[in-house]
Amino acid sequence: MVRAVLRKGRERSVVRRHPWIFSGALAEVSPETSTPGETVEVVTAAGETLGYGAYSPCSQIRVRMLSFDPVLAPDAALVEALVAAAVDRRAEFFAPASATNACRVVNAESDGLPGVVADCYAGWVVCQFTSAGAEFWKREIAAALMKSVPGCRGVAERTDAEVRKKEGLTASGGLSVLSGEEPPELVEIAEGPIRCLVDVRRGHKTGFYLDQRDARVAVGALARGRTVLNCFCYTGGFGLSAAAGGAKRVTQVDVSREALDLARRNAALTLSALALPPSAADSLFDYVEADVFRYLRQCRDAGRKFDLIVLDPPKFAESKAQVMKAARGYKDINLLAMKLLAPGGVLATFSCSGAMDAELFDQVLAEAALDARRDFQTIARTRQGADHPVALNFPEGLYLKGLILRSMT
Ligand code: SAH
Repeated sequence: MVRAVLRKGRERSVVRRHPWIFSGALAEVSPETSTPGETVEVVTAAGETLGYGAYSPCSQIRVRMLSFDPVLAPDAALVEALVAAAVDRRAEFFAPASATNACRVVNAESDGLPGVVADCYAGWVVCQFTSAGAEFWKREIAAALMKSVPGCRGVAERTDAEVRKKEGLTASGGLSVLSGEEPPELVEIAEGPIRCLVDVRRGHKTGFYLDQRDARVAVGALARGRTVLNCFCYTGGFGLSAAAGGAKRVTQVDVSREALDLARRNAALTLSALALPPSAADSLFDYVEADVFRYLRQCRDAGRKFDLIVLDPPKFAESKAQVMKAARGYKDINLLAMKLLAPGGVLATFSCSGAMDAELFDQVLAEAALDARRDFQTIARTRQGADHPVALNFPEGLYLKGLILRSMT
């Protein structure tokens, strides 16, 4: 087996069970390999075996650990066991009493499977393989998902092309079936009182923002009698949750027409599940196809007010280098939203940029409040749900941060 030998003094993070080994930490790889995903034995400068990982010849993250046990080299059985264990940890989501039929079943590094993401939508599993090791083992992973996910009807792959290029993998794009049946165009899921159609072929990520489930529940619980502005609404999630929670009126804003079209259909499905007449949609929902930065300014100039505003923008910072620019973007929209809040209003605001830490996000919000001349109190914090866990040895896994702020004036 190929040995990846660490430089002297660079074994610390592996000993601490961090799954990434950067190219600069390696003294040599012998014999030299260029097979993406090949299993390598990770060895200290003194010759001690620390475990095994998958080799990524093109990535700065050269090795991703699959086993920290010197006598347990990864094979199909180990990979399949890791998948089954990840699925088992989500048993509550598959129990008859579960409020939802959609959840993430494998969350990459934090489930011991670097670069492997698998989301389940009502029995249809959609995967992303974003590391060489994930690609190497994908047949075994798909087979294990098919076997272990309760009620699984099919496992498909849909991997974001850009991320794969960084790993030197071919940009597949599109959806391909790995096991079982092909999923329908749109998969309907239930999340508490709301119903959503998930476009597993063209939607964002694997089709839906499962990571915001807990935050949607929190917003729903605060919505009664309120006018709601849901910015960056995508297919409507937060707005649907607010409507189900008794909101007076919900304005759904997104720049994407396709997303808004689905938001409309999701509203109809949700109202029907709530046994409300279809005509309720007109009195409850508005749809605005617009750039949020511009729309918030328009609302400000028109003197509009809302009782509850949701800001769930896309990732503004892809890397540490973009954090300061991202901070300005976050400050801009939060400042505008704060000004649009009616007295006692609530702002639910999020950042899914992993590169921006929670502390900096708090600072940005404090600055925005100062400039908006409004006082706020934090009444709750949210993060990615329990199906998107963060391994203690992998703090990088935490990317989604949310604050629910109440205006004191
Ligand atoms: N809140 C959503 C997820 C938001 S994803 C949910 O819970 O499902 C981010 C969304 O922002 C995408 O739908 C994207 O189309 C939209 N978007 C990105 N930039 C935008 C902009 N400048 N103005 C309006 N929408 C934007």
